[in-house]
Amino acid sequence: MPPRVIPFGRPMFGDAERQAVLDVLAGPTLTHGPRVRAFEARFAEITGAPHAIAVGSCTAGMELVWRSIGLGPGDEVIVSAQTHVATAHAVIMTGATPVFADSEPVTGNVDPTLLESLVTPRTRAIAVVHYLGLPADLDAIRSVAGRNGLFLLEDCALSLGGRYRDAHTGLIGDAGCFSFYPVKHITTGEGGMVITRHADLARRIESMRAFGLDRSDPAARRHPGAYDVVGPGANHRMGELAGALGLCQLDRLADFLARRSANDAVLVGRLRRIAEETGALRVLGDGGDSAGSHPRHTDTVDAPGRVNRAAPPAEADPRRPARICRSIVLADRLVPQRDSIIMALSDAGIGTSVYYPRPVPCFTWYRRTFGDGPATRVPVAAAISRGSIALPIGPHLDSTDMTAIADALGSILCGTRA
Ligand SMILES: *Cc1c(COP(=O)(O)O)cnc(C)c1O
Repeated sequence: MPPRVIPFGRPMFGDAERQAVLDVLAGPTLTHGPRVRAFEARFAEITGAPHAIAVGSCTAGMELVWRSIGLGPGDEVIVSAQTHVATAHAVIMTGATPVFADSEPVTGNVDPTLLESLVTPRTRAIAVVHYLGLPADLDAIRSVAGRNGLFLLEDCALSLGGRYRDAHTGLIGDAGCFSFYPVKHITTGEGGMVITRHADLARRIESMRAFGLDRSDPAARRHPGAYDVVGPGANHRMGELAGALGLCQLDRLADFLARRSANDAVLVGRLRRIAEETGALRVLGDGGDSAGSHPRHTDTVDAPGRVNRAAPPAEADPRRPARICRSIVLADRLVPQRDSIIMALSDAGIGTSVYYPRPVPCFTWYRRTFGDGPATRVPVAAAISRGSIALPIGPHLDSTDMTAIADALGSILCGTRA
């Protein structure tokens, strides 16, 4: 039998999505229509957001947030170093300067203990990513932001469904931006959403999303041409085709999240065993998170001695992840073999990814623009970039796939000599 083919991601479209798109094509309204408005309303309902604004992409959403608070040249924003380049680029596009903060090693999320030392008189904001769908340490981050009067943006591109205590990610800070790019939790092809608690910020983003007009919705204009321009703006609208897809995908979000979480639990169980037996890897983000499907305080742990039942119960972990994938970090001796391990997995039919190939300050343009200094100050993020492999847990896969991934990885590692 040929090996199972296990792609890293696959859009989950069915009859509902196909019909929804055909319905849009059958009508006259391709933009400024009811589907995007309904998508925003449903997204707000699901996340509990007072305001949700659909945009062309997560990156466009982040740039709109920054422009809406008047960020510009001379301003600094503290940004997670271990993130998609978009988190930093959105700052760059306004003329402001990102100042990079390293990760903490267990999860790859930003190390909140580093933030305060990066604050200068020019600092206006902090931008953190919820790395791979595990919420960052928002209590600590928010208190630094609060003490220093900084705006807090959450890059939630990978954390749809992720919560921190009672709040959806994106609502602890001042704004949260989501992505509907194909490999995210839900997809509209391209697309994004901004959520915020602040009505005034929402109004500015809505206006800037559509040329800075005083009314973004032509249907609300009593007669053609009845609008004024009250500010600069871009065209970062979402169209009706994307909105129709988004509505269908939200109907399936709970199912997608449950499948990811179940897959992750199976995969992590297997990966822990490989880690213990071979010492070849560690599981990123393993240790300390209560959510997902693996309970924390049980005696069915596969790490003997991990659970001390006599100890007082740890304070409940506020993080409720919505993981997009599961990354392993190879032991140092195997890091030089990382790319050949990835190729061996690919030969076995298993798609992987690397989140992210370099910390942002280590990419060529950032080094050329800001020098080598910032790149040398993010060693933890750099180690994750060098040594990690992201394994798929998407809803297109099941527990048999998870077992196949772990088995393939285990036998590749056995055959790999450092
Ligand atoms: C995918 C991603 C983005 C970019 O999202 P777009 O919708 O493609 O602009 C930004 N940040 C993170 C963390 C991402 O994973």
